[in-house]
Amino acid sequence: MKKILLVYLPFCTPASPPYSITHLYSFLKNNCSEHIEVLDLNLEFHKLKFPEYQTYYKNIKNWSNYDKTTHEYIKLTSTVYSDNNKKVVKGEKPEFFNELIKKITDKEPDIVAFSIVYSSQAFYGYSIIKELTSSNKQIINIIGGPAINEKLMKIADKVLNNEIDLLDYILGKKITEEQNPEHDKLNFNFSIDFSIYNLTEYFTIKPVIPIKTSSTCYYKKCAFCSHFNKTPYHEFSLDLIKKTIINSTQRYFFLIDDMIPTKRLLEIAEVFKPLNIYWTCQLKPTKDLNYEILKKLKESGLRLVMWGVESGNDRILKLMRKGTNKKEIKQVLQDSHDVGIKNNVYILLGFPTETKDEFLETIEFLKKNERNIDLVSASVFGLQKNTEIYNHPDMFGITNIIEEERTILDPKISYELREGLTQDEACKLRNRYKKTIEHINKYPKTMSFFREHMFCLIE
Ligand code: SF4
Repeated sequence: MKKILLVYLPFCTPASPPYSITHLYSFLKNNCSEHIEVLDLNLEFHKLKFPEYQTYYKNIKNWSNYDKTTHEYIKLTSTVYSDNNKKVVKGEKPEFFNELIKKITDKEPDIVAFSIVYSSQAFYGYSIIKELTSSNKQIINIIGGPAINEKLMKIADKVLNNEIDLLDYILGKKITEEQNPEHDKLNFNFSIDFSIYNLTEYFTIKPVIPIKTSSTCYYKKCAFCSHFNKTPYHEFSLDLIKKTIINSTQRYFFLIDDMIPTKRLLEIAEVFKPLNIYWTCQLKPTKDLNYEILKKLKESGLRLVMWGVESGNDRILKLMRKGTNKKEIKQVLQDSHDVGIKNNVYILLGFPTETKDEFLETIEFLKKNERNIDLVSASVFGLQKNTEIYNHPDMFGITNIIEEERTILDPKISYELREGLTQDEACKLRNRYKKTIEHINKYPKTMSFFREHMFCLIE
């Protein structure tokens, strides 16, 4: 029997168990008889490096020092992550390297499959894969996930696209093609098993379980977004999602879908309502999400929505292909607030061609809707590959794209503009209006970093 180890890498926030390897684990368990295990090395790193913060976040009693403590934590972790990444770039080993490698080798796996969801996991991943390939030829290293890059591909033994590819590789037979009779025998009728983790070790006061209800975003039109890539949209079985929820025995669920259509939200609400759970998700504020619908969602346990508002200026929203407008966004935020859902508003400043006046219109929009906003999460636009803007820069006033090679990550992308605020100018303006934005928040601003904490606070 082969031993397969599914690994989640440092560095990302250790606020909940990883969805990607848990899904893979559940799929493989239901489709082969090999020995499958998971290892959340990201959690292990944070337990070793920040034990006092783990204790704090698991036991918060007094929330009054939360913002100060989390501000320190964010500062400290970003320094630690960056120092360790620099070590990897210089060819040195990152902190706790031997301890984490031992956690892998102790399990004596034949195959280690690394799930790389964030580019911040590429550095530690690079050093671990390098070590495993050079010191122990018996272990096969496989990588997959949305943030794999060329440098990782070069050192891994295998790059695989999805769970069927992985099963294919483990079993040593071709089942990927849908016409293949072996493919028809695959069991997709499984719930996701979170019992494989000690959920009380994560850095939250209550366990928060990530759930995915669909393969990708159905909308796929926002010009700055690369999330959906080429994945076709399909919805997962609500019966199986219900089973996952019941089997987890937990109460807090984070729907990690990029976006969920209204009809589907109502179906989800119907399934969730009798389960007596709390849930949160990310949505686009479109007018179909009216008071009655939001009320139904609240009644089914929806407590917090991360709204992709992006801008308070209609020209920018149109250019972003967001499919929303200022008037409708205002109404959705008001209705959501009135039914008792907390609103975390995401803003994208400095979109190409945005002028200072348009930037200020967004700030004014936030101020005017202060009553209906619980937390603002504001970021400055950055150009990414596989987006409409990257593919058609001239349509967005971009005159030149500059790509700078990096040691571990894919090239750093910057750009020059025909008109509008530069990235630098947008950053400076954001800093100038920091206090104005913070004044709107009803929750500590650091909860933009730890959204699970905001969710756990709401009942
Ligand atoms: S920003 Fe959100 S709604 Fe827009 S395409 Fe991306 S995932 Fe979909």
